[in-house]
Amino acid sequence: MARDTGAQCKQCRREGQKLFLKGERCLTDKCGVERRSYPPGEHGRGRQKQSEYRVQLREKQKARRYYGVLEKQFRIYYEKASRQTGVTGENLLRMLECRFDNVLVRLGFAASRRQARQLILHGHWTVNGRRVNIPSYQLRDNDVIAIHSRSSATQVIRDATELTGQVPAWLQADHDSLTAKVLRKPERREIAAPVQEQLIVELYSK
Ligand code: SF4
Repeated sequence: MARDTGAQCKQCRREGQKLFLKGERCLTDKCGVERRSYPPGEHGRGRQKQSEYRVQLREKQKARRYYGVLEKQFRIYYEKASRQTGVTGENLLRMLECRFDNVLVRLGFAASRRQARQLILHGHWTVNGRRVNIPSYQLRDNDVIAIHSRSSATQVIRDATELTGQVPAWLQADHDSLTAKVLRKPERREIAAPVQEQLIVELYSK
């Protein structure tokens, strides 16, 4: 499966803010953005020209990196979102938010999307009783998520739950039994991604 293997802290520094790509490390003073709050590269500290296109492009890249989605797949999400009823930007964010790997992070069952992806790919999770090993799997209302009965990752997952603040209201998690339920799709105000989706829509609709 294709994935973005670039240095994660550089991705945050490029976007000028913490995208929380590394789990526990992001909460410490070892965070790359905390230590070097300027873009990576030789000209990182120079002045950057801020055109409208550049602002829109950076917003799209930020969203892609935050959710760990490659360009082609991101474009497919956008096209699906634009065909749905409602606000395209919100539809886009909702689809990204309902990816299996993202939901595991929101539930506190993984410290980062990269870790969530690995746990899913290695078959540690089930949805409605069936093993699902597709990180981009779209979860639906009333889906029940559970750790696989033969999973050897229980301790790793329990460690991740220690880092969790609050589980969003559209999800329900049981950190003792390592099970969860999707109660409904999230509202825009419940999606904590640091993204202005309207800028992405403007970029793609040019
Ligand atoms: Fe981003 Fe986390 Fe690295 Fe900080 S530690 S720069 S939040 S990936």
